[in-house]
Amino acid sequence: MTTTDHLGTYRSKARAFLETHAGQYGWEARRNLSLAEEVALAKRWQGVKAANGYAAITWPKEFGGAGGTELEKIIFSTEEAQFGFPAGLLAITLGMPVPMMLHHATPEQKQRYVPPAVRGEEMWCQLFSEPGAGSDLAAARLRARRDGDDWLLDGQKTWTSYAQFCDFGILVARTDPDAPKHKGLTFFFVDMKAPGVTVRPIKLLHQHEDVNEVFFDNVRIPDANRLGAVNDGFRMAILTLMMERYVAAASDDGPPLQALIDLANARKLRGRPAIEDGRVRAAIAHAYATQRGLSAIHERALEELTAGREPGAEGSIHKLAAARERHAMATLALDLMGPSGVAYDSHAKTRTDYMMSWIDGPTLRIAGGTDEMLLNTIAERILGLPQDHRPDKAPR
Ligand SMILES: Cc1cc2nc3c(=O)[nH]c(=O)nc-3n(C[C@H](O)[C@H](O)[C@H](O)COP(=O)(O)OP(=O)(O)OC[C@H]3O[C@@H](n4cnc5c(N)ncnc54)[C@H](O)[C@@H]3O)c2cc1C
Repeated sequence: MTTTDHLGTYRSKARAFLETHAGQYGWEARRNLSLAEEVALAKRWQGVKAANGYAAITWPKEFGGAGGTELEKIIFSTEEAQFGFPAGLLAITLGMPVPMMLHHATPEQKQRYVPPAVRGEEMWCQLFSEPGAGSDLAAARLRARRDGDDWLLDGQKTWTSYAQFCDFGILVARTDPDAPKHKGLTFFFVDMKAPGVTVRPIKLLHQHEDVNEVFFDNVRIPDANRLGAVNDGFRMAILTLMMERYVAAASDDGPPLQALIDLANARKLRGRPAIEDGRVRAAIAHAYATQRGLSAIHERALEELTAGREPGAEGSIHKLAAARERHAMATLALDLMGPSGVAYDSHAKTRTDYMMSWIDGPTLRIAGGTDEMLLNTIAERILGLPQDHRPDKAPR
């Protein structure tokens, strides 16, 4: 069987599996659920995927994965996205923290932590950002002090997605306050239920409590919870962030372009269908051109993967363009809808509701790398422009 035949068969089988479960776990099942209920549904859905060979598709079978290829994973997630399954709630767990465990933990730790996450039984968060350290991750100040065979953690993290539901988290902590800031950090994982960990929700503009402040008050963790060498945490964190860009790139889930075209046909501007207005047509044409460009980038990344190579900075370009376009489309849609556009339904989904897509737009343009940071990456890594001024990297 050729690769193309194999992938065609894989896609048909995956689609049949997804169609069977859409009613129980897809859009309809999620309507009107609270965030806690959605998380519970997402964990159950992950269990169903694990039992059928569709969880952690590229990971080794010995850790509960399906031992499949990168292309199979992409095909499955593209199909999965059409039905509105709650996979995004576990995207962090399976996108960054657990892959870091898979690469850097001891064999015993991998056996302990990876399979339960693959089955959706345990959830992980990423505790990187602090009030003064978001884009500038190296400025992290949460302190880890050595105490015999243990470490004691003190300080604060913030913007931690789903921390209130998580069992474990990965973090960077300052272990040498006297070293230059990129050199004094160490990478750990922590039990989120350990004594001294406090999670406080932050309400976002749409009133959802996806993100949290997390406080560490003398939290004791064993040295075995360290991943990588002492004071090598910044490098480890950058490895994690490179994975994050790919995860974030996959989440441009606003309403499809056809919905905007239908809206422009249905709404009137000065007594005529809005689709006849030159500015509306130009905006739709722009969105179409962007989407075609993004598909081309996506196809190229797939070809690189098929040829056994790593794609380059496609993730950064994809995330930047997709997040901006989604926000622009939602803004235009709300303009066309007039007063009815601002009616707010807290249970609406970004994929089907322009108000929710618009309110949520800025978060997508901040989380997983801000627009400005992605522009810097593209300028330096793709266009080869001179590096941005980095006074913080100068020796002290
Ligand atoms: C919904 C959501 C979920 C999140 N989830 C998590 C999570 O699970 N775990 C986690 O650790 N963090 C999470 N974050 C935090 C996110 O990673 C940070 O908000 C992000 O890195 C930006 O950092 P900051 O908020 O400190 O802004 P800053 O870094 O202070 O940036 C402020 C502004 O300055 C710009 N800027 C900063 N430095 C430069 C530069 N060198 N060149 C040009 N412009 C610059 C930025 O682009 C931005 O516009 C989440 C954020 C959101 C919104």
